[in-house]
Amino acid sequence: MRKNLLQKNSDFHFFESGQKPKLLIHTGTHGDEYEVINIVTECLKNYESRLPAFIFVPQVSPSAVAAKSRFNHRSTDINRIFYENSDDLEVQWNLQVLKKGPFDLFVSFHEDPESTDYYLYDSGRSKIESELIKTHNQKIKKQSIGLLNGLDDPSDPALGYAFIEGYKKFVHKEGGSDNGMIIVWAINHHRVNNCLIPEIPGKLELKKKEFIIDTFFSDVIIRYFN
Ligand SMILES: [Zn+2]
Repeated sequence: MRKNLLQKNSDFHFFESGQKPKLLIHTGTHGDEYEVINIVTECLKNYESRLPAFIFVPQVSPSAVAAKSRFNHRSTDINRIFYENSDDLEVQWNLQVLKKGPFDLFVSFHEDPESTDYYLYDSGRSKIESELIKTHNQKIKKQSIGLLNGLDDPSDPALGYAFIEGYKKFVHKEGGSDNGMIIVWAINHHRVNNCLIPEIPGKLELKKKEFIIDTFFSDVIIRYFN
C-alpha cells in the first residue's frame, strides 16, 4: 500500500492499495483509542494480497491521536460534528477521502476504553443480519473474551443501544438527515453501502486485541468480498 498526503504540512494522510477502492478503513477517530492503529496497520500489510482495492485512513483525527484524547484540537469529538459544511479541517480532509468512493464496505475500528466486552455496530443498506459477524463473535467468545449483552453507553445521548452477543444491526432508512456521525454522513450520501464498527474492549491485553482484529480481517472482511 502506498502513502498519500492530502495536504502539505499536515499529519493527515491515507494509504491506498489498488485501483477503484471498494473497502474503506478508519482508525484514530478517537485519539484515546490509539492501540488499534498499529494492529490494523499490521493486518493490512499481512492481508493486502487477499483484500480488494482499499483506502486506509490511520488517523482520522491527527490532533486527537497526538493528544491521546477523544477530542480534537477544537475540543470536539470529530464523530459528532461530521457535516458537509463543517469548518473543521479534519472533517474536510475526511470528506475528500470519502468522496473517492463509493465503497462497498466501510470498517471503522474503535476501542471502548471502559469495556472488557467486545461488540460491533452493523449498519447500512443490507437488511440481513450478518452470519459472518455472528460466527466471528462466537469465535472470540471461545477465547474467553466477553461479548456485550446489554447497552453500549447509556450516558451518551447519541448512543444507548442494546446488544445481543456483541451484535447490533441497524437498517438504514432512506431520507434521514445527517447527525454528525461519520458513518451516517457516508451512508446518507451514498459513499458507502455498509458500515461496520468493531468496538475493541480497551481493557483487554494487547494479545487479545490483536486476536480480535486479525480474525476480523480473515473471517469477516476477506469473506465479505468473496
Ligand atoms: Zn471511538
